[in-house]
Amino acid sequence: MTLHDRHRAVIPDWAALYYRRPIELTHGEGRHVWDADGNRYLDFFGGILTTMTAHALPEVTKAVAEQAGRIIHSSTLYLNRPMIELAERVAALSGIPDARVFFTTSGTEANDTALLLATAYRRSNQVLAMRNSYHGRSFSAVSITGNRAWSPTSLSPLQTLYVHGGVRGRGPYAQLSDERFIEACVADLEDLLGHTREAAALIAEPVQGVGGFTSPPDGLFAAFREVLSRHGVLWISDEVQTGWGRTGDHFWGWQAHDGNGPPDILTFAKGIGNGMSIGGVVAPAAIMNCLDANSISTFGGSPVTMAAGLANLTYLLEHDLQGNARRVGGLLIERLRAITAGTPVVREVRGRGLMIGVELVVPGTDEANPEAASAVLEAARAGGLLIGKGGGHDTSVLRIAPPLTLTVAEAEEGASILEEALREV
Ligand code: PMP
Repeated sequence: MTLHDRHRAVIPDWAALYYRRPIELTHGEGRHVWDADGNRYLDFFGGILTTMTAHALPEVTKAVAEQAGRIIHSSTLYLNRPMIELAERVAALSGIPDARVFFTTSGTEANDTALLLATAYRRSNQVLAMRNSYHGRSFSAVSITGNRAWSPTSLSPLQTLYVHGGVRGRGPYAQLSDERFIEACVADLEDLLGHTREAAALIAEPVQGVGGFTSPPDGLFAAFREVLSRHGVLWISDEVQTGWGRTGDHFWGWQAHDGNGPPDILTFAKGIGNGMSIGGVVAPAAIMNCLDANSISTFGGSPVTMAAGLANLTYLLEHDLQGNARRVGGLLIERLRAITAGTPVVREVRGRGLMIGVELVVPGTDEANPEAASAVLEAARAGGLLIGKGGGHDTSVLRIAPPLTLTVAEAEEGASILEEALREV
C-alpha cells in the first residue's frame, strides 16, 4: 500500500490533497522543500501562507527547541510569559485602541471566537458575510463561508446574510465601473440592513484568499463601514491570509482600503507561527470583555507556539519583510504580466505584494478554466515549483504566496517555471 492508499483508508474524503500523485514533504529550507523521492521544489505556496518567513528559519527552530526543552504545556491557568509578550506585540501592531488579544490554535477558531464576541456583544445571532468568502470549517465558520466549494451544508443556528462586494463575478456587476459597483453594493447592504433585525457584525477578508486573491475596489470597505456604524454593526477583518505585511504596502489588509479605519475585531492565524498552529483575535477591551462567564483555550497560546511566533515576528520586523514583499512581489507581478501578455488562457494577473493570483479562462471566452488550473499545477510541479489554486464557484485561479524572504533570483526562477508550465498547457 502506498502512503496515498493509506491516507485514503483513514483520512476523510473531504480533506483535499493537491496533485494526481500527492506529495509527501520531508524537509524544507529557506524557500525550498524536498519530497520523499528526493525532489526539490521552489515553494510558492508556503503551506497555504503558513510559512511566512522561511522554512527551517534558524531563529524559529532555536526558539522552539529552547522552549520545548524548558516546558511544553497548555496556555492557561498560570501566567504564561511568551504568550503575554506576543500579545503585547500583536496588540501594539493591531491599530486597535485598548486592544486585548486572545490566542487560539487556528484561523477557524479565531473567527469562531470573533462570532462569539460579536453575537454576545450585540445580542444578535445574525451576521453578514461577503459572497465567495472563506472563514474556516467549524460549525459556525462554514455558515459564514460563502464559497460553496468550501462550505459543507450546515445546520448552524447562526443566521447569515451574504453581501455583494468581495468579487465582481461575471454577472451584471462585472460590467460596472468601480464607482457604480460600490454604489450598487452599498445599496444592497442598506437594503439588507433595512429589512432585518439588528445584525451583529459583518466579517470580510480584505483580499479574498481561497476565493482567488481578489479584493474589492478601494473605497468599498470605507463606504460599508459608514453604513454599518450607522446601524451599530461591528466590522470583523479576517486577516488570516492578509496579515503581517504579506500585501507589501501595508501590515494589515484593512489598511490597504482607502478611508478604512481599524476594525472592531481583527482575526489572524497562518503566517505568525511560521507553520506552528497559532490563531487569535484582537478587539478593544469593551468588546473582548463582554462575555459573562469564563472561556479559555487549553492550547491556544501554548508556550512553544508562542516562542515560535515571537521569534518569527521579530525576524519579520527586523528584516523588513513587508518591504521585501512589496519590492519582490512588485517585480514578480510585473514579470508575470509580461510573460502572460497575449496568452489567451490567462484572463488577469492581480495581487498585492506576495499575494498574487493568475486567473485562467477557456481561450477566446470569459469562461473559468479549472481544468487548465489543475494542469498548470501539475506542470509546475514537474518543473520544480509548488503553487496553489483557488477561485469562486470554480477553481480557476493560480495562487502564488511564497515565504516573505523570497529573493529576486527565486522570483525570476519561479516565473520562468510558470511560463513553461503555461506554455505546455
Ligand atoms: N480565514 C481565512 C481568510 C482563511 O484563508 C482560512 C484558511 N484558509 C481560515 C480563516 C481558516 O483557518 P484555519 O484553516 O487555520 O482554521
